[in-house]
Amino acid sequence: MTDFNSILADRIINMAESATLAMARKAREMKAEGIDIISLSIGEPDFKTPKHIQEAAKAAIDEGKYFGYPPVPGYMDLREGIAEKLRTENGIKSKAENIVVSTGAKQSIANVIISISNPGDEIVIITPYWVSYRDVALFAGAKPVFAVGTIENDFKVTAQDLDAVITDKTKAILFSSPSNPTGSVFTKDEIAGIVKVMEKHPNVLIISDEIYEHINFSGGHVSIGSFPEVEDRTITVNGFSKGFAMTGWRIGYISAPVAIAKACEKVQGQITSGANSIAQRAALAALKADLGPTRDMTAEYLRRRDLVLGLLDEIPGMKTYVPSGAFYIFPDISNFFGKSNGTMTINNANDMSLYILNEAKVSVVTGDAFGAPDCIRISYAASDKELKEAMKRIKEVLAKLS
Ligand code: PMP
Ligand code: GLU
Repeated sequence: MTDFNSILADRIINMAESATLAMARKAREMKAEGIDIISLSIGEPDFKTPKHIQEAAKAAIDEGKYFGYPPVPGYMDLREGIAEKLRTENGIKSKAENIVVSTGAKQSIANVIISISNPGDEIVIITPYWVSYRDVALFAGAKPVFAVGTIENDFKVTAQDLDAVITDKTKAILFSSPSNPTGSVFTKDEIAGIVKVMEKHPNVLIISDEIYEHINFSGGHVSIGSFPEVEDRTITVNGFSKGFAMTGWRIGYISAPVAIAKACEKVQGQITSGANSIAQRAALAALKADLGPTRDMTAEYLRRRDLVLGLLDEIPGMKTYVPSGAFYIFPDISNFFGKSNGTMTINNANDMSLYILNEAKVSVVTGDAFGAPDCIRISYAASDKELKEAMKRIKEVLAKLS
């Protein structure tokens, strides 16, 4: 057998590669070739995991008790700790039995979608959306349906727009606030508006991805699962990657109705056997300690947001808004469509991200990957020096388009 591509499953052939990871790989490859690439594609804290969390992992190894398989849904003390955090910080009525710890929030989301989707079920995805929502829904056999926000409303979908796409086939709605890719934060009133719509659809689940909870510049975080009207059918997803600079440790979790938590445990029991034991011990330390380092990182992201926004606003044709959280900005670059530097014409956001990569040697991600073909995503989780140089280069190459 020589053509191995022809034996691959259709659902894998049809699955898009994660655009964020693909762009990060491309940037890494160009860097390895000696090209001076500035990578603003992957959304990943550039800080080190705080020291006390590193120390907790070392202590767990030294204790010698955590070398075997952990329980599939996670260690009981971690699940209890997460449930307590959700009760006290988020107003979510969670108990250990509702919690499943997984290999990152990405796996948590996949577990949930796989657990609830039958062929023909619709998952409403609030758009612009994080890359993996669409492909995981397709992988699970569900049909993704999009409720689209516009830049005029900081990309936040309105309650009416959401209501318009819910049908009797809708199984769940899925969204993130603070949002990846836009950094937008739904206010308490806006979330209350979504809750009102959901009250009209009592059989529809809510999947709320709160991975950027701590990186919020607009005040307190609001969890939709704290609204009594929908608390019994909301699945809250969160994790340690972003707020604690722990992307490589791969720990995420859900709080879900028990039947859904049990289903996710079953999926996980057949696929991974559960999340890494030492990383779970480190996550427990992150949960129990003071959030000082998290607050310091958030203050730094806010400062960088203002730096990048100021520099982007100096670029003629770039359309921006003010993101209130996460570490992304998602400018609309459609003013450049149809323009050319003489050799390359920019017809869409894919062209633009390639043009910026090849000409400015800066990697960003096309908005197409997030359901927003007029935009590009810039991650500003990078140093001031890199950000200033990247914005200078982007400005220069965009000035060549006419
Ligand atoms: N949700 C969103 C919105 C994200 O940006 C990410 C980070 N890629 C994840 C989930 C997954 O996070 P992780 O698997 O690292 O916990
Ligand atoms: N959250 C990051 C991003 O969106 C990580 C990459 C990924 O998991 O896809 O870039």
